[in-house]
Amino acid sequence: MALFERDNDIYRDRDALREDYQPEQLVGRDEELRTYQAALQPVINGEQPNNIFLYGKTGVGKTAATKYLLSHLREDAAQYDDIDLSVTFLNCDGLTSSYQIATRLVNSLRSESNQISTTGYPLASVYEMLWEELDDRAGSVLVVLDEIDHVNDDSILYQLPRARANGNLEVAKIGLIGISNDFSFRDDLSPKVKSSLCEQEIHFPAYNAENLRAILEQRAEVAFHEGVLSEEVIPLCAAYGAKDAGDARQSIDLLMKAGDLARDEETDSIEENHVRRGRRALERGRIKEGINGLTEHGHLVLYALLTLDLEGETPIRSRDVRPRYTRFAELANRDPLVPRRMRDHLSELAMLGIVSVTERNEGRRGGTYREYALDMDVELILSAMADTVELVGVHDSIDSYVDGDDEPTTLEDFHGT
Ligand code: ADP
Ligand code: MG
Repeated sequence: MALFERDNDIYRDRDALREDYQPEQLVGRDEELRTYQAALQPVINGEQPNNIFLYGKTGVGKTAATKYLLSHLREDAAQYDDIDLSVTFLNCDGLTSSYQIATRLVNSLRSESNQISTTGYPLASVYEMLWEELDDRAGSVLVVLDEIDHVNDDSILYQLPRARANGNLEVAKIGLIGISNDFSFRDDLSPKVKSSLCEQEIHFPAYNAENLRAILEQRAEVAFHEGVLSEEVIPLCAAYGAKDAGDARQSIDLLMKAGDLARDEETDSIEENHVRRGRRALERGRIKEGINGLTEHGHLVLYALLTLDLEGETPIRSRDVRPRYTRFAELANRDPLVPRRMRDHLSELAMLGIVSVTERNEGRRGGTYREYALDMDVELILSAMADTVELVGVHDSIDSYVDGDDEPTTLEDFHGT
């Protein structure tokens, strides 16, 4: 008997739900696409391209719209003999400085055999190399920097748009397209960068339930076999998505999770309950990621609160969490934070949805105080905190949750919970 068998009853093409899938058409973005297209028109006219700044929260179609329009622009520009267009696309996730971006750009413009090391040059010489490569392109060059909010200094955002004005480029006509997931990024730019980069600004608003439904329907048609989705599945995914953040990525992920649950259960249709359970599973994944992203002191505060919770001491005030936190910090050989900073960590945990906060009144004397309690599964939290438990030691209250190796039990998967 075969060990592996195809289980394609649900999916026609599951990859269509993945991050890297580029839909052929975008739905419900007509107005933004019109503005964006108009901003790119100078390229076809053989004019100096605009610098464009695109902003909006994650999952609202900024990258998809850019890829869609640039692939059309390339295709259509090829019809004109006198247009020589090259496009360089760089995602800045994981890059933090103009230096890193400049070296990446040089390398993406150079041949495989002519790459430079990404460290060790003075910034000025990296820029020199960049101007040389760009000027070699002669015609119009569009440089797309996606997720530029990861970058901490704005030198490159000033240098690229002004390269011609500053006499660094002679022949190449450069246009910079900057894309940001962070609204406040624009406000933090220095005035001189703002005026050159933000020549054309395009805002992508969050999607509403109706937008999301259209997007999901388009995607489902490619991804699933006919008749697999029961009626309420897409509206439910769309409603959750609109309620959360209006993020198309998140809604598509939810649809995929529901599909995966149905497939694992070997049912031949996806139902409302798959969506609900899928949502919980994704939620838990996010919480786990949130815990992983906390600092060491965040973990110590959480560990303290967790043990107090198991001892029935919650809801509890910050000042009563403090002794346990201080002891844990000492056991971990760390200097405890001052009360105020410790409280900041409790607030951060509340923001992540791991801890709940209740405002209480002080009684006749007036004034309010806050009480904290755990708002999340103990096992889930522990599974993300193995390092902290190892550092501090196993507290009595969590004894039953850890196995013989002094390692917290891990919940690998949350299917069906
Ligand atoms: P952003 O770059 O704004 O974070 P993306 O462009 O990556 O968002 O979009 C997130 C996901 O949603 C992608 O898979 C994308 O293909 C899809 N998507 C977003 N907007 C649309 C749309 N209008 N029509 C079809 N698919 C869309
Ligand atoms: Mg993007």
